[in-house]
Order: sequence, then C-alpha cells, then structure tokens
Amino acid sequence: MRLLMLSDLHANLTAFDAVLAAASGKWDAAVCLGDVVGYGPDPATVSEKLQTITSDVIRGNHDKAVAGIMTSDDFNPVAKMAVEWTQSQLSPELMSWLSTLPPGPKKAQGVVLIHGAFQDEDEYVFTPAQALEGLLDSSTVLSFFGHTHHQGGFSYHESDIEVLPLRPRPMEPFSALHLEPDHKYLLNPGSIGQPRDGDPRAAFAIADFDHKIVEFWRVPYDISSVQSRMYEANLPEPLIFRLALGR
Ligand code: ZN
Repeated sequence: MRLLMLSDLHANLTAFDAVLAAASGKWDAAVCLGDVVGYGPDPATVSEKLQTITSDVIRGNHDKAVAGIMTSDDFNPVAKMAVEWTQSQLSPELMSWLSTLPPGPKKAQGVVLIHGAFQDEDEYVFTPAQALEGLLDSSTVLSFFGHTHHQGGFSYHESDIEVLPLRPRPMEPFSALHLEPDHKYLLNPGSIGQPRDGDPRAAFAIADFDHKIVEFWRVPYDISSVQSRMYEANLPEPLIFRLALGR
C-alpha cells in the first residue's frame, strides 16, 4: 500500500494539480494534514478537489480561523487579511465542511496525522526536543505533521532522537527514506501551496508500507500563474512574493 501525504495546500490549485500529476498512478490512498485554505487564491476549488481524493483530512490553524472556530487575532495582519478574503470566497457548504474537520492527532490509514505537534495542534515543531515530546508516548511507527512548511523530520530509536536530511536536491524529484526496524518517525511531507524551506517547488510525500520507504517529493509548478490570480484577488503582496522564494 502506498499512502499519499498532502499538507498545507493553502488554496494553491496550480501547485495541487502539479502534485497530483506527479503522483498519478503512484498511490492507493491519500491523507491530508490540514491548512487546506488560507493565503492562496483558490480556496473553493482546492477544498472541492481534496474532497474527491480523501476524507481523511484533519484541520490546520488556517482552516480553523476561516471556519470561525478560532480567532485570527493572533495572526499577522497579512495572514488575517487572507483569512477574511477566504471567508468571502467559500459557500456555506464548504464553510461547514471546514468547520467539521477533526483535530489531530488522528489515526488514519495506519499512520498518525498531526497538523502542528502531538502535544498541541497549533505548535510549530522545529527542534528534536519538541519532536521527542510526542514520539516518547507514541505507539505508532509513522506519524506525519505539517504546519512549519519545512519538508523533513525526526527518527527515534533507543532514547536517541535524530534530525533526518530528507529533502531532494534541486534536480531530483524525490529522496527516499528507508525505515529502520524498531525506530519511530515524525515526518513532515512539506507544504504544497506555500513552501518555506528555501525550495519553491511544491512538496509532498508517499509512504510505501510494503517496501518500508517514505519518498519525499518536490515538483515545480507555474508560480507566476498563481501570483497573477493573487494580484487579481488583491491578496497581500508579501504572500505573492514569497511563493517564488520558497520562504
Ligand atoms: Zn500552513
């Protein structure tokens, strides 16, 4: 079984389509780690397309803010503007779908889905200490998280936590992580719609259970077409510029 891991789509349909094209024929089931909407110009079409692919979707902080489950007062002004614009673009049906997305951690398809951290769905996991806090208690080999928009992750074995170098080089489509016996993993497939790890290509992962491999993919997409739609929608400029930088 090959499981497609989608995260932080952020209403970027062009990036989402590029991911689905690159992954075509390579997966049997799909899951999503949240932040379906927010920042990007295509919240309705991305939400509708995701629903045709999987129902194993957990919520991210942007989904919560747009659905009105959490206030966007803590968001920076640019993110807050995007939340308000996104609300204006969604039908009552899509708003209600967003508002019923469950929080992580959630078990689905043999893995654990997390948006931020095991211990707090809104926490950004950047350090081994943060990863360790959740992995210590986890009984599952593979847990996946998003939120940071950084592709990568951690392995845990005999009380040792290790940061894994997982990102493919610029000309490579993917890099493969070979899963070791008796290890536990906390892995981030990266962001589809707004990568922030310095590589502007859309990121995703595929977990291959039969071969005990997780593939970390990057796929180029037409960034300028997304930027044009963002200008037309009057979305804030910093959000438009950062797509080309991957920051
Ligand atoms: Zn996000």
